[in-house]
Amino acid sequence: MASMRALQKKAPGPGLELCEVEIPQIRPDQVLVKIEMAAICGTDLHIYNWDTWSANRVSPPVTIGHEFAGRIVEIGENVTGLAEGMLVTAEGHFTCGRCYYCRTGQGHICDDVKILGVDVDGIFAEYAAIDAENIWPLPDGFDPAIGAVHDPLGNAVHSAYVHGLTGKNVIVTGCGPIGLFCIALARQAGARAVFASDMNEYRIELAKQLGADHVINGGSEDLETVVKPATGIGADVLLEMSGSSQALASGLRSLRKGGAASLLGIFSSNVSIDLDAVIFNQLTLYGINGRRMFDTWFQMQAALEAGLDITPVITHRFKFEEYDEAMALMNSGRCGKVLLVP
Ligand code: NAD
Ligand code: ZN
Repeated sequence: MASMRALQKKAPGPGLELCEVEIPQIRPDQVLVKIEMAAICGTDLHIYNWDTWSANRVSPPVTIGHEFAGRIVEIGENVTGLAEGMLVTAEGHFTCGRCYYCRTGQGHICDDVKILGVDVDGIFAEYAAIDAENIWPLPDGFDPAIGAVHDPLGNAVHSAYVHGLTGKNVIVTGCGPIGLFCIALARQAGARAVFASDMNEYRIELAKQLGADHVINGGSEDLETVVKPATGIGADVLLEMSGSSQALASGLRSLRKGGAASLLGIFSSNVSIDLDAVIFNQLTLYGINGRRMFDTWFQMQAALEAGLDITPVITHRFKFEEYDEAMALMNSGRCGKVLLVP
């Protein structure tokens, strides 16, 4: 049996191990992908650090990672429409296909979802077995680095497009990779003005580079005092990408009456919000879970074809064996998107 290198969580506890494991055998409905580029998600960092969520959710040993681009090298006997040599990425949420949500076109909130690199072996490896129905082919000659960040870009597209951004005053709280993608999407969509906040100077600079008009330090400045004078009545849309209760509160206070918020950032504990303000200002709060399958993916393809430039978000590349360094950088926050090259 041929073997490959894979980054695994071998046992409960912090860290990862670069292991020699068997190349996965594909099922008849899967393809085998040779990974060309991987990207590190916050989820991978949580699993690396072994926080409470990981300890409750992940059962080692497991190969982690779910953001990738790679080439198909083997095709299962029941798979049609895909070919060896194709450059692809994939939706990392495997749905059951049978629950109420799957059967009503809402597979992104499937009741029995399995996540690549969390519940099943992932893509921080030389090869990965992926369900063919989750594969998203990329055009010939496509940059694998951009291919590898389709998953988080999809989160941004889902959050941004729900409310429409054209001609609108848009706030993005949190300028991690997904918030930065939102800024690029807002600019491309023809937003009237883009307001962004973060506490991290490195990311504040990236937000400016991506075209935000006003970038504030959420730790020391109040969004409302910038947004209200600049817009007269407040912003139309809030894209909450930080998971900070303080950012959420100041974002909501900065919306105009009838404004809308997409909530993507995940809060580490329960958050209280001013519901009277939501009611009397008639705000819409819209929770975002992952990417719609596959509406979001088609929208993302269209945005990229129309020239969406997200290259400044990708700031670092590491070799596979430099994973500790890459994770330390992610923990420091002095980065945009970090790639791993197998
Ligand atoms: P990230 O952690 O890299 O970015 C979050 C940013 O928020 C950081 O740059 C941080 O400095 C900033 N921040 C923290 N407190 C702030 C404050 N008070 N004001 C302004 N900014 C503040 O995360 P990411 O990978 O870009 O993802 C964004 C969020 O979305 C995370 O919370 C992540 O867990 C969540 N997420 C949700 C889904 C979903 O399906 N709902 C999917 C992926 C990620
Ligand atoms: Zn389902």
